[in-house]
Amino acid sequence: MIQASPVMRICISCRKTYDRKNLLKITNDHKQGIMLQKGIGRSAYICKSKKCLLDSKIKKKLQKSLKTDLGHDFLNIFEKVIGSYDNFPNEGI
Ligand SMILES: [Zn+2]
Repeated sequence: MIQASPVMRICISCRKTYDRKNLLKITNDHKQGIMLQKGIGRSAYICKSKKCLLDSKIKKKLQKSLKTDLGHDFLNIFEKVIGSYDNFPNEGI
């Protein structure tokens, strides 16, 4: 049987379902702590839309779904990553 369908995940902000490739993945890795786009453990996904990435409650939503506190180090990296998106591929959906 061929599995051609993409892996779909739900954005923690807008609750819409997207192809995992188009989502920013944040994982609470059980060894290395909070990681972006990698790691093994509890994960949360945010779609790459301006609305969701710049959501003022996104950090709280992340902490809630990862069930952990996000440290300053992670938040600094997170903000840099968001700032690095010149265009938001999911915008307008
Ligand atoms: Zn979203």
